[in-house]
Amino acid sequence: MSFTKAPLLLLGIGLLLSTPTWANIETGPTKAPSRPKNIVIMIGDGMGPAYTSAYRYYKDNPDTEEVEQTVFDRLLVGMASTYPASVSGYVTDSAAAATALATGVKSYNGAISVDPQKQPLPTILEKAKALGLSTGVAVTSQINHATPAAFLAHNESRKNYDAIALSYLETNADVFLGGGQKYFSPELLAQFTAKGYQHITRFDDLATITQPKVLGLFAEVQLPWAIDEKEAKKLSTLTQKALSLLSQNEQGFVLLVEGSLIDWAGHNNDIATAMGEMDEFSNTIEVVEQFVRQNPDTLMVITADHNTGGLSIGANGNYSWNPEILRNISASSDTLALAAISGEQWQADLARGLGFELSEEEVTTLNVARMQGLETMAVAIRHVIDKRTDTGWTTSGHTGLDVQVFAAGPASELFNGHQDNTDIANKIFSLLPKPKKPKS
Ligand SMILES: [Zn+2]
Repeated sequence: MSFTKAPLLLLGIGLLLSTPTWANIETGPTKAPSRPKNIVIMIGDGMGPAYTSAYRYYKDNPDTEEVEQTVFDRLLVGMASTYPASVSGYVTDSAAAATALATGVKSYNGAISVDPQKQPLPTILEKAKALGLSTGVAVTSQINHATPAAFLAHNESRKNYDAIALSYLETNADVFLGGGQKYFSPELLAQFTAKGYQHITRFDDLATITQPKVLGLFAEVQLPWAIDEKEAKKLSTLTQKALSLLSQNEQGFVLLVEGSLIDWAGHNNDIATAMGEMDEFSNTIEVVEQFVRQNPDTLMVITADHNTGGLSIGANGNYSWNPEILRNISASSDTLALAAISGEQWQADLARGLGFELSEEEVTTLNVARMQGLETMAVAIRHVIDKRTDTGWTTSGHTGLDVQVFAAGPASELFNGHQDNTDIANKIFSLLPKPKKPKS
């Protein structure tokens, strides 16, 4: 028996001896560094696993036998739990989830990067800024909404929109892009411009911006639904601009990107609008993925803060889901309802917007809803779409499902497997450059 050990031992030594050679090949000049210079954090607000699955079938080419992969399938690396601090139970809101993702600490629902005792918690963007990196946010909600707010500010309540907007003056972030004109008074804007920020409100003016610092507010509150302006590609355009501005810093940058309105469509239980938001978030991920390919020192990490709406792919007892109907819907239920309320030829207009002929039963239901006003009409349109597509929803709020984690670039393997949302932040903190030791 003993002689069998000798060849194994020799083989072992051989492996040991050859290891340095492999290591040399791996650490050659073409290999990406183990620690990223730039980090892009992307959050699909409310984007639980049902959204990425639904999006796959929504994008499936019906002319091929296979179901094509999406960017989400390509970049998937792990899962994350989302529960907030125990005082708020197991189902998080966007504020507590964003606090966890921005600081690595769980807090109560409503908290903007303060702990359960309402004490401020340092955020990834603040730490990055203190280390000499550039920072920015590009979102489709107002820029002072819960998710971006938790990366930039500290407040005991997400509802204190004005105070959060005011506190952005102190962040020294380089790029703010999104909605929220309503929260920035002329006096506050003057303070931003006095600090060297260019302030723009027209989307087309984005092209004229060549330097940070910029405060781009392109809507009163949130940006329009992506499905209502199919060619605009706003989030991907904002993100492309943010990348080009922030990458001017040789020391690196941290950028937060949020597909904020996936969640809002989920709260509305509006599947067609949710898929429109998913499509633009997917476009945006591809923009960042391209940047990572061209800049191998950039890490991208994508996740959701929680799951919204309890979206179900298949409903009503049927073994089916019919996204081909969704592909033909040309506007959000909000926009379709508005047109139907005010138009004379509403049945024909609505059928055109939906891309299918309405049945007698559907016309009867919609007619009753139309008499009751805009919101009831929008809900009735969503119900027609849900029934035709076999889409289900369990709530107008959030659910406690784990969410997916996607990553690419240096150290992306850190995010493999199961983790907690606070772990995501703590891993990112660990990847920031170490503070330079003062010379003694
Ligand atoms: Zn939400």
